[in-house]
Amino acid sequence: MQLHPGHCVAIFGGAVAGAEAAGLLSQQGIYTVIFEQNALPYGKIEDGLPKWHVKLRDKEEQKIDEKLRNPYVQFVPNTKLGDDIDFETIIKKWGFSAVLLAIGAWRDRPLPVEGIDAYVGKGLYYQNPFIYWFNHYHEPNFSGETFEVHDGTVVIGGGLASIDVIKALMIITVGRALRERGHKVDFFELEKRGPARILDELHLTMDDLGLKGCSLYYRRTAINMPLTPIPEDADERRLQKAYEVRERMMKKLQDEFLFQFHECHSPVDKILEGERLAGLVFQKNEVVDGRPRPIPGAFIEVRTPLVISSIGSIPELVPGIPVKGNVFNFTDESTGQIQGYPNVFALGNTVTGRGNIKDSRQHGGLVGQHVLTDFLAWKEAYHRALADEKAEKLSEQVTAINSALDAQKLLSSEQISAIFDRAKARQKQVGFDGDYEKWRQKHLPVRLENMGENQPI
Ligand SMILES: Cc1cc2nc3c(=O)[nH]c(=O)nc-3n(C[C@H](O)[C@H](O)[C@H](O)COP(=O)(O)OP(=O)(O)OC[C@H]3O[C@@H](n4cnc5c(N)ncnc54)[C@H](O)[C@@H]3O)c2cc1C
Repeated sequence: MQLHPGHCVAIFGGAVAGAEAAGLLSQQGIYTVIFEQNALPYGKIEDGLPKWHVKLRDKEEQKIDEKLRNPYVQFVPNTKLGDDIDFETIIKKWGFSAVLLAIGAWRDRPLPVEGIDAYVGKGLYYQNPFIYWFNHYHEPNFSGETFEVHDGTVVIGGGLASIDVIKALMIITVGRALRERGHKVDFFELEKRGPARILDELHLTMDDLGLKGCSLYYRRTAINMPLTPIPEDADERRLQKAYEVRERMMKKLQDEFLFQFHECHSPVDKILEGERLAGLVFQKNEVVDGRPRPIPGAFIEVRTPLVISSIGSIPELVPGIPVKGNVFNFTDESTGQIQGYPNVFALGNTVTGRGNIKDSRQHGGLVGQHVLTDFLAWKEAYHRALADEKAEKLSEQVTAINSALDAQKLLSSEQISAIFDRAKARQKQVGFDGDYEKWRQKHLPVRLENMGENQPI
């Protein structure tokens, strides 16, 4: 492709938010280079959203693919910011017009029990690596960390992801117990219809399988769980109705998936046995004005073979990028602009903290639009003028546009070409020849739904 003067934007993370911004910018004639830490740019669509969401996953991945096929987008896989490329080098040496951070939220919020992280892998798991394993362990060539699953596992959390974790546990424990007894059970049937119905049809109970079920512990109550959205301006009547719906939904989930739910419990201490975490001490709460308030002296000990903490995800920090508390230090959520770096912007889950595809896409679009119209002050007319102009008249166009711009000046074709050359050198290093479709086909994981009889649970 013949490059024209204009702008070139780096985007780290090519999933929902990153692809949305790349799509918006590239459609307007802004060059983008997407650096993605993994081979494929699907982020939590592939490694978070549980693998039973086959249609949603495929639909979202297609949307990402469409954006990446634009000729203005260069894709650089297997390249992690802060690891393969450092932030200072990107800012000082590559010469991008702007840098976008769409790197999601891959770090689990630490469980607030002193010293408990020493027991990760020894009775304690965190949600993000656990769900990664859950989504991929069926792949014949899976080489990641292996996770044990136990009946009686305790999940800590109250968000939607924690419900997925407990559903995954119940599907695995019931599914494996049934298979051990010679019953043919299908993973997707277990998820769709729920273990309770499958057991009923086989005239079996959890007792018959020797299972007691897993438990979800939450510091507040079912009505505080985000099972249904509640508009900010909801009146008392609407609020009560939404609370009833949430309670009913939680009850239905328990009935179908056969787990126990314990409201108003916060973990405060660990129970150890030798080298392993053997349980937790919980403080019982009451909920006052939506907040948990400890009930003095009300503690219980819960013994369990496994704890999975699912209390939220926060961004993995990158050396050199300013932080505020647990997150990047952005000036405000709508622009995502990073404090002290006028041309660096964060977008998607990394900023919103909300584990939601729609929110990530909307935020990616919002920040992309801000970069395009406010930061770069780019106009569709510039694109036409720069892309279509004959070589001899081009420098006049560039001078005219640059003098009209208070904002970031245009990069010359040579500057953009130099960025692309560096990007291509990295592509070569990681073995990507620029053919996205071929690369995608090569790296797409084996799908559970295509495994037929060999489908493991
Ligand atoms: C268990 C679970 C269930 C969910 N269920 C739903 C659901 O039912 N409905 C729904 O709407 N949402 C759901 N979500 C949330 C949804 O999947 C995510 O919120 C959304 O996909 C996030 O998109 P994103 O682009 O902001 O971030 P991500 O998908 O996290 O994308 C970030 C990208 O950046 C890459 N990256 C990270 N660090 C670097 C780095 N340093 N350098 C380069 N690249 C990097 C990652 O590999 C990734 O591709 C669920 C999430 C989980 C965990």
